[in-house]
This record gives sequence, C-alpha cells and structure tokens, in this order.
Amino acid sequence: MGLTLEGKTALVTGGSRGIGKAIALKLADYGADVAVTYARSADAAEEVKKQIEAKGRRALAIQADAVKFEKAEAVIQQIVSEWEKLDILVNNAGITRDNLILRMSEEQWDEVIDTNLKSIFNYCKAAAKPMMRNRGGSIINISSVVGLSGNAGQSNYAASKAGIVGFTKSYAKELASRNIRSNVVAPGYITTEMTDELDEKILQSIQDETPLGRPGNADEVAESVAFLASDLSSYITGEVLRVDGGMAM
Ligand code: NAP
Repeated sequence: MGLTLEGKTALVTGGSRGIGKAIALKLADYGADVAVTYARSADAAEEVKKQIEAKGRRALAIQADAVKFEKAEAVIQQIVSEWEKLDILVNNAGITRDNLILRMSEEQWDEVIDTNLKSIFNYCKAAAKPMMRNRGGSIINISSVVGLSGNAGQSNYAASKAGIVGFTKSYAKELASRNIRSNVVAPGYITTEMTDELDEKILQSIQDETPLGRPGNADEVAESVAFLASDLSSYITGEVLRVDGGMAM
C-alpha cells in the first residue's frame, strides 16, 4: 500500500510559510487534518488553512509563540479537544540570527536557542501524554545539515540544530515502548524566505558544495516528512534523514 495519512491528525509548528507550509499542505494531500501555528504571519497562516480545507481536510491556524511552554500545551489541548487526538507532530518553527562568535550578542544566542531548541522540548513534552493515550504517534523534528557539520557565522543555529538530534534520540528511547516514534529531518540548502537573506557568494558556495548541484525545494523536504509521519516508516525511530542533495555525507 502506498503512503496514506487518511484519518490522522497533524500539527506543524511554523506552518505559515516556507518549509512548514509545504509540509502542512503535503500532509493534507496524503489525507491528514492539519493544524498550523505561526508567530506573526496571521494572513499567510489563514491562507494555508484555506488551502488545506480546499483539499477536503479539517484545518486550524493558531497564533502561538513556540518559545512559550504554556502555549504549546494550549495548542495541543485545542487540537485534542476539537479532533480527539494528535497523531503527527512536526516541529518546524525556526529562525536564524547569524553572526561570528566574537560579534554574537547574548540576545542573538538566546533567541535562536529558545526558538529552535526549547520549542522542541515544549511541543514534544506537551504531545507525549495525548500520544500515549492515543497509543502511538510520530514526531518529526526539523534540524539542519548545519547542526551536523557546523557553519562559520551560525554557532547559535548549529548548536540549536545539533541539540535537536540529541533530544530526538533521547525522546525516541524514552517513548518507543509507547509506540511513539521520533525522527529528525535535516534539510540542506532549501529555497525559502530564510535563504533569500543569504548573499550571492554564499549561495554559490553552498551550491558548489552540494553533489546534486542545485538547491532543494520545500516540497522535497515535505515528502520525506510525510514518509516519516506515515506507517510506511513504522520501524524507524531515532533516525536523522538528511534531505540535502548529498551536502553533509
Ligand atoms: P521561514 O521561511 O523563515 O519560516 C519560518 C516559520 O517559522 C514561519 O512560519 C514562522 O512564522 C515560524 N516561526 C518563527 N519563529 C516562530 C516562533 N517563535 N513561534 C512560532 N512560529 C515561529 O523558514 P524555513 O526556511 O521555511 O525553515 C523552516 C525550518 O527548516 C526551520 O526550522 C529551519 O531552521 C529549517 N531549515 C531550513 C533550511 C533552508 O534552507 N530554508 C535548511 C535547513 C533547515 P511567522 O510566519 O509567523 O513568522
């Protein structure tokens, strides 16, 4: 049987734009009802909600700063009370605040660690009990090849993304007996608003370092997330799946 998410419910954090939006729409394409959260982009998130509904699925768009634990609990409670259960959690919300270590402010460090790493703890912890009651679930945390290889000017981002790998493997070991799987997807250079900020020279050098010789697109990341969300990956947990054109091998 092919990939299907019929009858499943999903939450994608940071689903208003970029990779998160592509994941939300992809999960809906495969049959899931999908809730997205966002920080500021209310109009964009409403548009994603409409697009999911146009595919015949239920949708929610919820404003929730991923840094706040009580927001994560409230979002998951809302989904469980409206849709009875949560099967799939995709922790995608993330930011960059790049600087060389010598110039990096404490604020730049804290903002990135809180948004990219603490958010993972927030949502994974809040989802654990509902998923246990539901006798299973699949969590996909979005890291980055930068978390595997490091990158000059991105020590805060690399630390947050490497932290996600250690957290996800620990979570996988703690909750495997409850049939909750947790895996990491580590994208390489994917064209989105986040990478639009990079200058030409950096983009060219990234492309030169990518064996497949081109940037990826958000849809290619979304397909891998859908696979890990689905029962096709039922024996995979604690894995790191690079979607990077071979960049970090
Ligand atoms: P993006 O286009 O900048 O989108 C970021 C998303 O995260 C937006 O939906 C944004 O919501 C949301 N967000 C940011 N801060 C938030 C917060 N505090 N609370 C809730 N939501 C928040 O980024 P992207 O390129 O799609 O990246 C998505 C994920 O993939 C990130 O974790 C990123 O690190 C990772 N990644 C990206 C690449 C790449 O090349 N693009 C490569 C590797 C990994 P608003 O719209 O409301 O701001």
